[in-house]
Amino acid sequence: MKQISVDDIRKDFPVLNQTINGRKLIYLDNAATTQKPNTVIKSIENYYKSFNGNPHRGAHYLSLKSTEIYETGRKKVANFINASSTREVIFTRNATESLNLLAYSYGMNFIEEGDEIVISIMEHHSNLIPWQQVAKSKKAVLKYLYTNEEGIITEEEIKKKITDKTKLVSIAHVSNALGTINPIKFIIDYAHSRDAKVILDAAQSLPHMKVNVKNLDVDFLVFSGHKMLAPLGIGVLYGKENLLEKIPPFLYGGDMIEYVYEDSTTFAELPHKLEAGTQNVAGVLGLTKAIDYLNEIGMDNIEEMESELTSYALEKLDSLSEIELYGFKGISNRGSVISFNVKDVHPHDTASILDAYGVAIRAGHHCAQPLMRYLGINATCRASFYFYNTKEEIDLFIESLKNVRKWLGYES
Ligand code: PMP
Repeated sequence: MKQISVDDIRKDFPVLNQTINGRKLIYLDNAATTQKPNTVIKSIENYYKSFNGNPHRGAHYLSLKSTEIYETGRKKVANFINASSTREVIFTRNATESLNLLAYSYGMNFIEEGDEIVISIMEHHSNLIPWQQVAKSKKAVLKYLYTNEEGIITEEEIKKKITDKTKLVSIAHVSNALGTINPIKFIIDYAHSRDAKVILDAAQSLPHMKVNVKNLDVDFLVFSGHKMLAPLGIGVLYGKENLLEKIPPFLYGGDMIEYVYEDSTTFAELPHKLEAGTQNVAGVLGLTKAIDYLNEIGMDNIEEMESELTSYALEKLDSLSEIELYGFKGISNRGSVISFNVKDVHPHDTASILDAYGVAIRAGHHCAQPLMRYLGINATCRASFYFYNTKEEIDLFIESLKNVRKWLGYES
């Protein structure tokens, strides 16, 4: 690994250098959203100061400049995920919108009565409810891949659930609630052998590891910019060109048309066919700068840095008798998310007490209520790391955690 100074990295992130209520901020809620480096923040300010125009719609300098910034961003994303062309990259608001686009445009048009849609029990609601709705309207069958006691979806389970009736598999690469990395290459290859298409929810993987759509041979992939240093409000849908060609638009309006007549319309070529309305140019510029930042550090290095942090935290948490860990206990098959509870303490209390120490974690059902029910719990605490976190922060998190039961009057 090239020599990377986390101290230098942290200087690029203004939020990380704040004190909150007199305490240094320890931000461990990166699965919810990540903090932004100066290059991203400044690019947005600069865009609105110097280049703001409506892209694809004007012959004047600002419009042309906005178009150039927007389309340069599309090239950047295509290269980052190794798409074959920019026609395969659609900008949306976030992973949720990308999944809904697929549910409306692909699901409602290509799923038929009796077809099977396979998802997993650990899906985020945004990759669950759209398929529930498609299954209901089309009278299709929604099937779940369940995990074993270790929090893993086994090959037997995959072979049992994906059948010749399966038309679509939509699955998270990394679980936002447990951190499990799912066996997606096996799932994709197996689904293809049954003629099913696969959507990969890469919201929790793409920010943390190299994801190559060509090597995976995945049909569609979605992610949110804000979980990978970019601003809120910009997301991506990747799709194989031949599949995106086939699906009708999800939204109708400006810039997605070729010709409009009083009683009919022809649509623009990809990718514009699937991007109606004025585009989020500043968001795309922020995403472009975010990808530059990630590339500068290197996705392999990021993965290694986070794996070290996660195993360090796991070991410490596992050694505390009052901590209950959920999901896969090992380090090999997991991203940088750890779900846990302090015994006898409601996760919201744990999160509030940690907040008093300046430690930001998430508590709740993590938009994965069926998973919580499957695990027999209501909620968990979740600590999630990014490459800018440090072992010293994890030490402080653990020390604060040790005080939680004391705060609530337990003896230890
Ligand atoms: N999928 C997963 C696995 C997620 O973790 C999230 C966000 N927590 C989403 C989808 C939805 O992302 P967004 O809210 O940015 O659309």
